[in-house]
Amino acid sequence: MVGYPDLKITFLGTGTSSGVPMIGCSCDVCISTDKKNKRLRSSILVQSKTTALVVDTTPDFRYQMLRAKVTDLDAIVFTHPHKDHVAGLDDVRAYNYFSQKPMEVFANALTEDALRREFIYVFSENKYPGIPKINLNTIATEPFIVGDIPIIPIEVYHLNMPVLGFRFGKFTYITDANRIDEDERKKIMGSETIVLNALRKEKHISHFSIDEAVALVNELKVPTAYFTHMSHQIGKHSEINKELPEGIELAWDGLTLNC
Ligand SMILES: [Zn+2]
Ligand SMILES: [Zn+2]
Ligand SMILES: [Zn+2]
Repeated sequence: MVGYPDLKITFLGTGTSSGVPMIGCSCDVCISTDKKNKRLRSSILVQSKTTALVVDTTPDFRYQMLRAKVTDLDAIVFTHPHKDHVAGLDDVRAYNYFSQKPMEVFANALTEDALRREFIYVFSENKYPGIPKINLNTIATEPFIVGDIPIIPIEVYHLNMPVLGFRFGKFTYITDANRIDEDERKKIMGSETIVLNALRKEKHISHFSIDEAVALVNELKVPTAYFTHMSHQIGKHSEINKELPEGIELAWDGLTLNC
């Protein structure tokens, strides 16, 4: 895409809401020592030369930022208000402390309502010293820009909840969906790489299964795809990855892409 900055994408987490391993579970996946079977909650870091943003602040946000050594963060872009995508917001305090400014937050009205409710202290009149400072930017489905990174929101459905996916140049990131309508699919066409959620093999009411995600990648004609938001029920990374068609892989925590 002409004039679009080169991006580095880092998968900060690729697990479903419970993470993998799941607390108390002793299944083969949860007790595996392969690091590709250890999945924090789903989020990505998007970096250009001058700008860094994360998509969602999971309950693992603090550790994800430490693990990926993210010392500078310009913005947070939210997909939807489910707890596994917003719970870590309180830890933007560290960025506030070092940058001495509020964190830029981009969210649709649905997510904004949830943030105001679930982080009521952040929005109170008389603010306790040291609480997170954020600057809320309301987005809908129109394109917006963060630093030098233009972003196109894509509205997808998670059962009945509208969720935002995001297109960054030739890279598209969609999590927590089980339906994408025709008009929004057009926004994805022409992407070179897509990330889709694929929870497990079996069908689920609000997430794509592996087969549904593979079928969608083929319908969208995107040559390279990575799956995320995986449950321990998906099986071991090494075994499931082998079964996928060429050009499609399971993502793993720490995977980086240059787009
Ligand atoms: Zn989720
Ligand atoms: Zn398990
Ligand atoms: Zn969700």
